[in-house]
Amino acid sequence: MPVYSHSRLETFETCALKYKFRYIEKAETPIEQSVEAFTGSRVHDALEKLYRDLQITKLISLDELLAYYADRWKKEWGTGILIANKTRRAEDYFAYGEKCIRNYYERFKPFDQSRTLGLETQLNFSLDSNGRYKMRGFVDRVARRTDGTYEIHDYKTSGTLPAQKDADSDRQLTLYQLGLGQRWRDVERVELVWHYVGFDQDLVSTRTTEELGRVREETIGQIQAVEREKEFRPNQGRWCDWCEYRPVCPVWKHVDAVAALPPEQFTADAGVQLVNQFAEKKLEKEKLDKELDDLREKILAFAEQMGTPLIQGNGVRASVSTQERTKFPGKHGALHEELAAFLRSVGRWDEVSDFDAARLAKILENESWPPDLVAELRKFASLERTRTVRLSRSEEEKSES
Ligand code: SF4
Repeated sequence: MPVYSHSRLETFETCALKYKFRYIEKAETPIEQSVEAFTGSRVHDALEKLYRDLQITKLISLDELLAYYADRWKKEWGTGILIANKTRRAEDYFAYGEKCIRNYYERFKPFDQSRTLGLETQLNFSLDSNGRYKMRGFVDRVARRTDGTYEIHDYKTSGTLPAQKDADSDRQLTLYQLGLGQRWRDVERVELVWHYVGFDQDLVSTRTTEELGRVREETIGQIQAVEREKEFRPNQGRWCDWCEYRPVCPVWKHVDAVAALPPEQFTADAGVQLVNQFAEKKLEKEKLDKELDDLREKILAFAEQMGTPLIQGNGVRASVSTQERTKFPGKHGALHEELAAFLRSVGRWDEVSDFDAARLAKILENESWPPDLVAELRKFASLERTRTVRLSRSEEEKSES
């Protein structure tokens, strides 16, 4: 049975095909990782170095730490690193990494807030008592405060700062807390800490026993979903721009193949031509639909002016009709909540709780509720008028054919 991790499950949740490429087929790809992931790894290297030195009581200076970061960056950089955002260069990411390290260093110096127990700590644990659902995780830093509270630290270099509610529902560090509980006996109070180093901001959260149990169950359910999966379908989205399997992914076969062609070959490609024709026809159809709408309005106005529902054309006839129906605010309408509150307050909610607008309209039409309620209900209703124009061939034409 495979050992799962948060990132393994996250890959499956993002795209099942990517999961298959990475964890089942272990597919070869010319892209090793995105520049964002590379920058994150180098910042992690530097912060690990900072705390490793501190463990032997050496406090490295910020300049030394930045020099270490620069050195690691140079040594690890290679051609397989993908810069998806073409408006940025490698130097921009390098500078961003420096900023992240500087932010962290200046915020926490002299780094004595808690005692470090482990760096890049590997946690192996089970989600069930039989050891059927095995997990593994690597914690950036595990620490303990003097009051016995454990801290699980995670460094994030992402360019987006999540909301507190995202931290409160985060699965990754919740799983780490489960792992920590199986590693040491005295783990009672645990604080989960995300250092969003690019923003110089931390998010802190805790978990109740119920929340831990729920994440445990949900994760088992997700593992079961992975193990049931047979098709591993691609899930195309903005994340494809950073996916290292894009060069071997069938979704992007045509897009990436024609992107590399010179302009004349690009235009001659059968797929490009078909899509161009389709787009052209669609545009024509939209224009035609618009023209039809305009003509429909003109016929309606003409019929109204003449005071007749039938307008004669050349062998064809337009008949104009008007329908009126009572409309109530839909579930997303502005007045919906107010209407629901009114119906509850007059004890009529059960009659229309599925919010059948047609039923409400019928009640108004038949005035089947007491007059004062009908009057109140009427305040939420509006009259919708639909006018249609239908074409039919003229009688003379019909008899001729
Ligand atoms: S490129 Fe997109 S669709 Fe293809 S494997 Fe990667 S994430 Fe999935």
